Amino acid sequence: MARKPQRIIEAALIEGIGPIMARDLLAMPEDRWGLLRDRITDRRHGKDGLVARCMACEGEVYIRTARLGGTSRPLFAHYSGSDPDCPWHHGRNAMPDDVRAAQYQGRQESTFHRLMCEQIAELVALDERHIRHTIAEYLPPTENAHGRYPDIYVEWEGYGAFAIEFQLSGTFQTEISARCKHYEYEGIPLLWILFGMDTSADVQQSFRDVIRRHRGNAFVLDPSAVAASKEQKTLVLTCYLRNDEGFDAPKLVRFDELTIPRSKLPFHEDRIATPLLAEIEGRRRPWFEALADWDHFGSLCDLERPQSLLVAAAFSIVATANGKERNYASGHPNIRAMLNTYLHSGTLSPYTNLLTKLIANTSMADLLATKVGDHLRRHSADHQKDEQSSAEWRLLRHLLPEALDPVIRDELKYLDALPGWAIAKDASPVQLSRQHAESQLI
Ligand SMILES: [Zn+2]
Repeated sequence: MARKPQRIIEAALIEGIGPIMARDLLAMPEDRWGLLRDRITDRRHGKDGLVARCMACEGEVYIRTARLGGTSRPLFAHYSGSDPDCPWHHGRNAMPDDVRAAQYQGRQESTFHRLMCEQIAELVALDERHIRHTIAEYLPPTENAHGRYPDIYVEWEGYGAFAIEFQLSGTFQTEISARCKHYEYEGIPLLWILFGMDTSADVQQSFRDVIRRHRGNAFVLDPSAVAASKEQKTLVLTCYLRNDEGFDAPKLVRFDELTIPRSKLPFHEDRIATPLLAEIEGRRRPWFEALADWDHFGSLCDLERPQSLLVAAAFSIVATANGKERNYASGHPNIRAMLNTYLHSGTLSPYTNLLTKLIANTSMADLLATKVGDHLRRHSADHQKDEQSSAEWRLLRHLLPEALDPVIRDELKYLDALPGWAIAKDASPVQLSRQHAESQLI
């Protein structure tokens, strides 16, 4: 029987982020869609995360991967049991990754696995802080409804507890999610050690999922890690740090020197948030340099005058939110006077939605409760430049994604890496003043 052509879910609505088109997803770097994929799976299994819905049938969807031209490509897919009448319904749900995973399920308790657990147990016991450890024993829950059977569970004096799981090739991503979130809720650091990762070849999806959860760090127990552990009398692992092409040369890292983020998944170096923030800084640098020399009148980097003023005003807001008050857009002593003037004159009136959104997503959010907020409302042009069709909006979203790109903003929040300037310091004054106004009307 000929296979029916699969239909693609063209767009999904992600709660708290907004609509994402299939082509947006394909255009994202792997970490960006990968983090969405992790968090959608987490939420599906009852933990904190994201809900994504098909824009055609509103059924819940997840991000599956398909191999195309040697790389993993992301696609939205309905969960099984979804509405078969959805125009984007694709019929079946078993994907190559899942099928491969199923083949490995029966092999998890292999002798090799047991030997690796015993090897780790021997090494963690060398540390003088060692209190106790267990291998594949039931660990009762403190925060979750059920306990777990960690491959290795360890308690060290002064360090606390931690768990180690071995990642076999092809573990279900739902299983990875369940274990990660379990230990996060229990407050116990969880380290995944990869089995048989070939860093010279293309790393398979289930390993990529674990490596991403460890912020681009792949941990392996190889002979040099065992030798270093014995020498230093503590747990030392071989760490491969992901880079653009593949992985850096391996490094030996002590377990107790790893950074433990809120997710409780340790890392040696953050290869997700750090490079992303550096890359964004690089996008902005030439603009800050051009603004420093700008006379407020000519064109800025080939932009027309209103757009030049808009960019100058936006960068002034960001610099001020970052604690370095600058007014790149006018000779006024502060940005309030600058904004009020340009709003009053109408120059910034087509951009009041944009400016309101920018200010609301910075530490300057309380500006909206002042005269600036009044001016933004009062001098708002009927035809607002919008996110879809305005080149200026797209430019500023690209240059100031921490505040204006909902996907990047949400990702940085999730990674605890949102810069201070982009954290809205208690935006409640706006709400309060609005409530206050309403209560006066009543
Ligand atoms: Zn649908």
